[in-house]
Amino acid sequence: MIKEPLKYEIDNSLVNYYFDVSFKSLTQIVDKKDAIILTDTNVYEAHKKKFESWRTILIPPGEVNKNQDTVNYVIDELIKMPADRKTVIIGVGGGVVTDLAGYVASIFLRGVRFGFIPTTLLNIVDGSIGGKNGIDVGMFKNMVGTIRQPEFIFLDISFLETLPRDEWVNGFAEIIKHSLLRDRLLFEYLEKNNVDYFMKRKAALLELIEKNIKIKLEVVQKDPKEEGERKILNLGHTFAHAIENQYQIPHGKGVAVGIVMSLHIAIHELDFKEEDRVIKLLEKYELFTNLIFNPKDVVHMLMADKKRVGKTIDYILLQEIGKPATLQLSMLQMTKYLTEAYEKWK
Ligand code: ADP
Ligand code: ZN
Repeated sequence: MIKEPLKYEIDNSLVNYYFDVSFKSLTQIVDKKDAIILTDTNVYEAHKKKFESWRTILIPPGEVNKNQDTVNYVIDELIKMPADRKTVIIGVGGGVVTDLAGYVASIFLRGVRFGFIPTTLLNIVDGSIGGKNGIDVGMFKNMVGTIRQPEFIFLDISFLETLPRDEWVNGFAEIIKHSLLRDRLLFEYLEKNNVDYFMKRKAALLELIEKNIKIKLEVVQKDPKEEGERKILNLGHTFAHAIENQYQIPHGKGVAVGIVMSLHIAIHELDFKEEDRVIKLLEKYELFTNLIFNPKDVVHMLMADKKRVGKTIDYILLQEIGKPATLQLSMLQMTKYLTEAYEKWK
């Protein structure tokens, strides 16, 4: 029998979290005849055996495909299957797949059941938790979407055996972010280790994952609709979202430079003093900490940011490691800081 799930509630929805289980036991929680697996071609090719005998819909990998065209394609495939009101859509993959799975499940037939099997470190520690689903529109990340919790999350870390090293690195950007927001001890623990350490040690990895899921959950449960506290999770993300699709930078790397941008602002606005230490940790986890970008283009993107209200933008900064702060910055101030960073990084 599959081990009991951890149960948590977000915004009155109950999520069953099956922690450290095997894909084989998926049949114990969903009826195969109702299930439709949505995954991308990379995950499918790397784990073909697992998917035998399951109905699957395959999408092309990568953020460029997290868009309305792919949504239309998936809906057409669901109609062909055919799917019905009893269908459970199971997104198996990274954030692209589960964001899309949750979104399609929220709108198809005005909403069908869905669950996630995250297969990237980034999606395990961050993307799969919290119920944000959606797609990009052109350059704009996650511009359209829903907030709706999956019925279950199913964690089988054997999927990570095929995850390219570079994708592990991306995951560490969010892990470092969590430590900066909530957990100085975690930050210090990360300083003592590196990517290889966690890639090779299942127990340490599971413990790290559990810690990060708890941090994310604690924030999201207090503020599921991002009216207040949940905004802190955007540390590094305002800048990241403005550059990722423009310069085709993977999310983790975007978040890492975004964090460095926040540090730059925090030094001036909040007298933040630990910049070198944070940069050193990001570098230890093989993330880059500067970028050549065009400040004008970034300002243009910030004007369309979901977090912009009127002429100001809520920016998440750090007072110290483990202590976030929100600051309202005008577009004029933003332009000044972006230009300074551009001069420093180029
Ligand atoms: P995230 O937003 O979680 O980083 P993506 O959906 O963009 O995830 O996935 C990152 C890349 O990793 C994609 O090319 C995807 O196909 C690939 N991928 C995801 N999971 C695995 C896995 N377990 N093994 C191999 N490749 C994977
Ligand atoms: Zn993120």
